[in-house]
Parts: sequence; structure tokens; C-alpha cells
Amino acid sequence: MMPKKIAFGKNAAQEFEYPKKSLIITTTTPEIYNKWIDYMGIKDYELYDKATPDPAIETIEQIKKEFEGKDISAYIGLGGGSSMDLCKYLSKQTGIPKILIPTTFGTGAEMTTYAVISFEHKKKLLQDEAFLADAAIVDPYFLPGTPFNIMRNSACDAAAQASEGYDSKLGNPFTKLFCKEAFEILEDAIINDKPDLLPYGAMLSGIGFGNSSTTLGHALSYVFSNEGVPHGYSLSSCTTVAHKFNESIFYERFKKICQKLKFEPLILKQPLEEAADVIMPDRGHLDNNPREVTKDDIIKCLDEIVNSNPLA
Ligand SMILES: [Zn+2]
Repeated sequence: MMPKKIAFGKNAAQEFEYPKKSLIITTTTPEIYNKWIDYMGIKDYELYDKATPDPAIETIEQIKKEFEGKDISAYIGLGGGSSMDLCKYLSKQTGIPKILIPTTFGTGAEMTTYAVISFEHKKKLLQDEAFLADAAIVDPYFLPGTPFNIMRNSACDAAAQASEGYDSKLGNPFTKLFCKEAFEILEDAIINDKPDLLPYGAMLSGIGFGNSSTTLGHALSYVFSNEGVPHGYSLSSCTTVAHKFNESIFYERFKKICQKLKFEPLILKQPLEEAADVIMPDRGHLDNNPREVTKDDIIKCLDEIVNSNPLA
């Protein structure tokens, strides 16, 4: 599965014909999004700019109420993952189409059937065919000005998703084609300092892993996310160790990418045994892992992540 329409490359967001009376949902500040909207050439639109990271179901209800009766023709998610997740969930509820435009590049969320929404302060990963974009626009115009930390976390996430997605048991020749090509483009972008290639690599990664799922690396990473470590950063060590455990063809290459991005080792406050108990029920990731994983294996992986430096 992939979006009905994909526009990508330089100026793609400028050349796209946006429907009138769209509702733009964004997370950034007026000085940034006004520049973006000018570039896109949208005139007749409504705006919701109070989206925050980790969007909650309450925000969905608030947006529906605020724009009720305004005859909105499409949602435009413009920004990072949270603005796109809001559009996905709203669109599923209202049937109004959605156009997704990533500006941070890494999750590949514009390509997938996944959305993360918080219910009672707990993040929930949801999957639904209705979350697929009606149009996805991937334009490197939005890249300059992205802080280095956000850029490197996104790049690491995209490379982790592409390589875990390649190894996933749910994979098939079609998903492997996208995951492998995505990884090669992302590797070239990072190792040879060609950031303009990141959006395209992340987009291909989204098509690949979005149809095959991520695996052990992502499963291990969530106990670090729960302690506040950014998603892409936690994957640097977690996916490296997972690739080693799985004897993945990407182990050495993924590690080199993380070394180039200069990620520091991870710290876990929670005892390893307790963390393993949190990870074990994550069957969505673990069942698709190419090798069977026991609780002992997880403790060993976590031990390697925090007590040795897997990126050295
Ligand atoms: Zn990810």
C-alpha cells in the first residue's frame, strides 16, 4: 500500500495544485510556516498552528470543533510527524482527504498506514488503511535550517527503518527492493555529506518498512524513549546491536552511519531485567524479527547497549 499520489523532488510542493479551503495543520511558528505557505502558493486556506509533539486525542476533538461548518475540503499536514498524525486520524474520522508534506524527513510517515496518537497520556501506535495519504509531497526545499540534532536523529531513524524493514519476516521482494534502495541512498547522503538526498531516501524507506514493519531494533529502543531519549538517537545503539544479533547484512554499514553521525552511548536508568519485561510483550516488532528472541537475548542485547559501546 502507498499513497494515491506521490510528488517528489525540488519544487514539488510549489508545483502541486492544492484544493481550495484546505485546513493546514502545522507545529511550527508563524515566521517559519508563513514562508512555507508563500512558497507553496496556497491562498484560500484555514490554519491550525497549535499542534504539539505527541498529539493527543483531545487535540483531534478540538480541531474538529474549531473548524466545524467551515466546509474544509482537505487537510494539509505540514511539518514533522505530529502534524501528519493529526491529519491521518482526522481524515479517518471525517472522511476528508489529506495531503501530507514532511519537513523534517526521517519517519517516512507520509508514506505509511501508521499513526501515533496519545490516549490518556499514553502513546499508541495505530495502523489503518484509512491513514494512507491521498497525496504525499516530498520536497527538499524544507530541509535547510533543520537543526543538526533533528536532522541526524531523522536520518538514523530512516536508515534503521530501511534496514530492519529489509530483514523483517513480513518482507517480500517488493518491500526489499524499496528498503535496500532507501538504505543505499541514505548511506550515500550521510557518509558523503549529501543532505539533499535524505528526503528521497526517507520516502523510499517509508514505502518499504511501511509494508513490512520494523523489528528488534525498534522493540529495544522504546524503553529508552520512555526515559526521554529521542527516537532516532535511541536507534543508533539499539538497531546496531539488533543487526549484530540477527547477523544482518546491514550491521557494519549501519554502525558506520551511526559513527559518522557521532552518536553517544545510551544510558538506561531502569534495571535491565525490568526493561526486558517491558519489551517482551511487543509482539508487533518481535514476531517479525528474522531470529526468534527470548527474554535472555533481550537482556544480553540491553547489556551490550549500555555496558559496552556498540558504536566503538
Ligand atoms: Zn522509527
